[in-house]
Parts: sequence; C-alpha cells; structure tokens
Amino acid sequence: MKLPTEKPVLVTSALPYVNGECHIGHLRTYVPADIYVRMLRKMGYEVVFVSGSDTHGTPIVLSAEAQGVTPEEVVEKYHEHFRRTFAELNVKFDYFGRTDSETNHKRTAEIVQRLVENGFVYKKVLKQAFCNTCGRFLPDRYVEGECPYCGAVARGDECDQGCSKHLEPGEILEPRCKVCGSKADFKDQEHFFFKLSSFADFLASYLEGLGGTLNARNYAREWVRKELRDWCVTRSLEWGVKFPGREDLVVYVWVDAPIGYISFTEELLKNRGKEEGWQRFWKEDGATVVHFIGTDIIYHHCIFWPAMLKGAGYSLPNAVVASGMVKIDGKTFSKTRGNVVWVSEFLERFHPDALRYFLVAHSSHTKELDFSWGAFATRLNNELVGILGNLVHRVLSFGYKNFGVVPEGVVKEEVLVEIEKAKAEVVRAVEEYEFKKLVDAAMGLANFGNSFFQREEPWHLLKQGEAGRERCGEIVKNVLQIIKAVCVFLDAVLPEKMAEVWEGLGMKTGSAGSDLRSVRLEEAVAEIKSGQRLKKPKKMFERFLATAEGDLKSPQPPSRNKK
Ligand SMILES: [Zn+2]
Ligand SMILES: [Zn+2]
Repeated sequence: MKLPTEKPVLVTSALPYVNGECHIGHLRTYVPADIYVRMLRKMGYEVVFVSGSDTHGTPIVLSAEAQGVTPEEVVEKYHEHFRRTFAELNVKFDYFGRTDSETNHKRTAEIVQRLVENGFVYKKVLKQAFCNTCGRFLPDRYVEGECPYCGAVARGDECDQGCSKHLEPGEILEPRCKVCGSKADFKDQEHFFFKLSSFADFLASYLEGLGGTLNARNYAREWVRKELRDWCVTRSLEWGVKFPGREDLVVYVWVDAPIGYISFTEELLKNRGKEEGWQRFWKEDGATVVHFIGTDIIYHHCIFWPAMLKGAGYSLPNAVVASGMVKIDGKTFSKTRGNVVWVSEFLERFHPDALRYFLVAHSSHTKELDFSWGAFATRLNNELVGILGNLVHRVLSFGYKNFGVVPEGVVKEEVLVEIEKAKAEVVRAVEEYEFKKLVDAAMGLANFGNSFFQREEPWHLLKQGEAGRERCGEIVKNVLQIIKAVCVFLDAVLPEKMAEVWEGLGMKTGSAGSDLRSVRLEEAVAEIKSGQRLKKPKKMFERFLATAEGDLKSPQPPSRNKK
C-alpha cells in the first residue's frame, strides 16, 4: 500500500508480554517493523514508532506468586530486559512505554466509560470457576480443565494444547485450580460484556478497506462471516486496570493492551511538548496508523480493536501487517521442551546485524520462518560474507591501496540503470511489506557489482601507463557508486555495518559529509564525489560452520562488537 505522503505515519509493534526473556520468535515482528520505519523515513515520510510492555493479565500474576514477588517486580525486570534487548538490536522506538502507566489507566478507563455510555457494554451473571481451598474466583490461567470444543486439556482462556480456540470465562469443563490443584466449583459472578456482535456490518466494510498484508484481512473476514460472539471484558483480579465503578473487577488484558498504542503516542507527544498532539493520530484521521503484529493475534487487532475504537468514537487503524510465526528446526516454539533460541545467547556469538538480516532474508514476511543453525550459516556465509562482504572488501581494499581516494571518472549508464532498477524494487518491497524482496534487490545489485568488477579486470590496467591507470580508476569509481547505493538500500537492515562502509567510502567527511541514517533513497543515484578519502576496510562478518545440533564451529571465534 502506498501511504499518503501528506500525513504523518504512526507505526506500532505488538507489545511484548513481560513475563520472560526475549527469544528470536519475538523478533519476527519488531525487526521488520523497525526496518519499515527506517525505510519510510528514507522515502521522505514523517514517522512515529511506538511500542511498550504488556504488563497485565494472569500469567504475570501467577509467575509473581510462584516467585514470591509482586507483579510490579516481574514487570520491572522484564520491561528492562526487553528495552535493553531492543537497544542492542538497534530496534529504535521513538517511545517504549508500559501498559501499567498512569496514562494508560486513564485512557483505558475513559474508553471503557465511553463504550458503556454508548450502550455497547452490558452486565451478565456468569457461572465462574471458584476455588474453595484458595477462597477465590479463578480467572483465565488460574484454571485448567477440559476444552468444551475438542476435549483436550485447556487453560481457562485458551485451548492451548488442542484446537487453540479462545475460551470465554465459564466455558471450561471440569475446572481445577492451577494454584492448589483442587477441583473447582462454579459460583455466580457478575461480569461485563462488550457487544461485539453488533459490529459485524461495520467490521465487514472496515476490513474491505484495511491495508496491510492479505493474511490479516482474510482471517478476519472469515471470522466476521461466521459469527461474532460478545466478549467478556472483565476479570476478578487485583492486578490490572479497574473497571469503572467496580473495585472487584479489572478489565481483560486484551482491552488495555492495544489502548497502550494510544497512551504511548500520548506520552511521547507530551514529552515533545504537544499535550494534545496524540489526537491527530487517534481522533482526527490526521495520520496513517500501521500495526505490526504476529499472525497469532490477528483476531485481537482486526476484530476487537477496531470495534472498540469505533464504539468509543476514535479513528481507525489503516493497516495491519501480520508476520508468520517462527519455528525451530521445523518444530513449534516451546520453552518447556527447550525448543527455543534466546536472543541473549545469539548476541553473545554474533553481530546483531546478522540476525536482523536473517529474520527478513530467510522467508516472505507472512510465511512461517523456520530457524536452524544450518540455515543461518548458509545465509551468513553465502550472502553476507560471500556476496556483500566480498564486494566491499575487495573493491574498497583495491581502491584504498591504489588510489586512496574515490578516483576521477564518469558513472556509466549501465551502472545507473542497475541502481535505479534496484531502487524501484526496494520501494515496491516496502509498499508490499515484503522485506525479503528488499534484501534480494540490494543483494542482486551487490552481485552485479561483483560481476562488473570481475568482468572489467581493472588490476590489469594498472600496468598500462597513465591512460590505463585512468581507466582503472573509472572502473573503481563505478563499483564504489554501486557500494554507495547498496549502503543506502541496506542501511535499514544492517544499520551498524552499512554505517561503517559509508564511512569507509568517505561519505561522512568533507563539506558534503552525510550521515547514512538520515539520507534519502535518492542519495543512491547521486554521484559519489571523486577525491573523497577512502578508508582501509575491516572484515564485515566472519564465516562460520554449523553442525545439525547447533554446535557452532568457527575457524575463529565469531566477532562481535561489544557496546
Ligand atoms: Zn486453589
Ligand atoms: Zn479445544
């Protein structure tokens, strides 16, 4: 989707649930969202990028109880962990908040109040699981039992080991208390429901015009076509945002989590001295809002969320981009079965840019991404080392040794055509949310650079007097132009490595010196200036070998810049 250029763009990335450490499955959403934001800026858009920690719900309360600490302590620990991890990976949010902030409490209460006033919320008495031993109601993950749809063992809010259906409070059969193991009883309790069913027509037409990836739109349309059930939006819990006027109930975590997108925009703009600035994004249709999520939460973002916004009189998101889930060696991610790759372990051995590259280069954004050490090794060795690293190292070393500066010469039509072609593909990739096509276009150009250099054999010309040296310089300048363009196209994916190469090309120094991060896409075709001082290149990435078990055997320890 080509976004309107006159409006600012708000990009959000799904909120990490701060109950454990970051694994590479998380990054499938954050890294592409960050790449998208960096590319939009290069294309001239004004962009705001927000996310934050999802801090409420029963899993955090349960782990706090198990560890003998408060929910705040669990949240504090992992909120910091995620913030640090994103910084290490160069995922640069303009604002990274948390849903237990005062702003989010207020905004959630306001939106729920608005839904009540507009007649979209009603009371209903439910039979709820109650533990006599613990003396309390058992919301969501406090209870375990049998799925009413498929009979598998299920959690209170989801049939996680069977049909993966969302379960409403009171639906689970044969409930047992998760804390003490006792068989639970059913007791009447008053709850509040959101009239999702009355939004079917609205959602059907909203989804017609929704941008983003097809998978999100198609799943959501199918659910609307089948049946929308009203949605219980309260839980009997201490930890969370209180339901207006009820001290004994908090709102369901999936109510206050997406409202975090609004609150984070508010907090960011307030910090920038624009107290009411958020309204342009969420009340006045004055911006384009793009959500990056995983396919597992399409329902929440394409059904619940727009219905809530509509019912409360807010403006609506313009696009939902859903990434496929990550598998490890063909198997579903599982922390309990040890089928997981932690980001911290990864970063101890590899440069963050290599992981950023793999996450977008290995498969189409909407498809599943199957991680294995072997697949990672292949991408790293063949592409980052074999194509990109080889081009930069060979040509920059040659140019540095023989000229010391960007030589004189004319950039050939053939080269400019290839750069323009890659640039068009890069723009199309961003508009289609297909980041694999972006890296493929840039690597294609790098490949062309390698073949061009090889074909022209400039090293022979050096022995042919002054005229030969001149022709040699022109060839070098042409390939340096290609490297400059590759830097512009891959900066969003490999921000640290491309910045180093940019500096090596002499782009940062001199009167026209520029920072790669802030240059526009057009800079790729702007002629590289003769006379710029070149720097001796460093090795970009180390080659390594991986065995099937993931035991990495490297000729040298993989290098990693410690920050
Ligand atoms: Zn109990
Ligand atoms: Zn089931």
